[in-house]
Amino acid sequence: MNYHQYFPVDVINGPGTRATLFVSGCEHQCRGCYNQSTWNPDNGHRFDLQMQQRVINDLKDSRIKRRGLSLSGGDPLYPENLSEILALVQRVKNECPDKDIWLWTGYRLDELSPEQKRVIDYVDVLIDGKFEQENADVSLVFRGSSNQVIHYLAEKR
Ligand code: SF4
Repeated sequence: MNYHQYFPVDVINGPGTRATLFVSGCEHQCRGCYNQSTWNPDNGHRFDLQMQQRVINDLKDSRIKRRGLSLSGGDPLYPENLSEILALVQRVKNECPDKDIWLWTGYRLDELSPEQKRVIDYVDVLIDGKFEQENADVSLVFRGSSNQVIHYLAEKR
């Protein structure tokens, strides 16, 4: 998996202070996509074990306390990203159990494959659905268009 950008301290993408990873790879081709350079899974930088460790270290950092990890893109549930995203969310939940995970995907919750659902098992909040330009609304919080749904999965477990 490649990633497009990593923000070790972020107060925009999700609640509170967070670490945020924008991965490469997306097949949705939404009209009006804010970042088409993330579509190509080969763009960006390699998300290697060193980067995985950096995310864990940042979440454990007591000097800047993060509430959790945000995963966006591109699409973290892009099929080629799944094995490395699964490894990351498993590590976060095992090693940083007090941190929440928010994940943005262009797939809808009700159309996820079994492999994608394995990742979602570790996700606290899922924001799903493609960006639809005709439903775009800048007043929405944590969503770009009104068709997208914020699923508070952890509350239902
Ligand atoms: S899901 Fe996100 S990154 Fe992918 S095309 Fe749509 S807006 Fe762009």
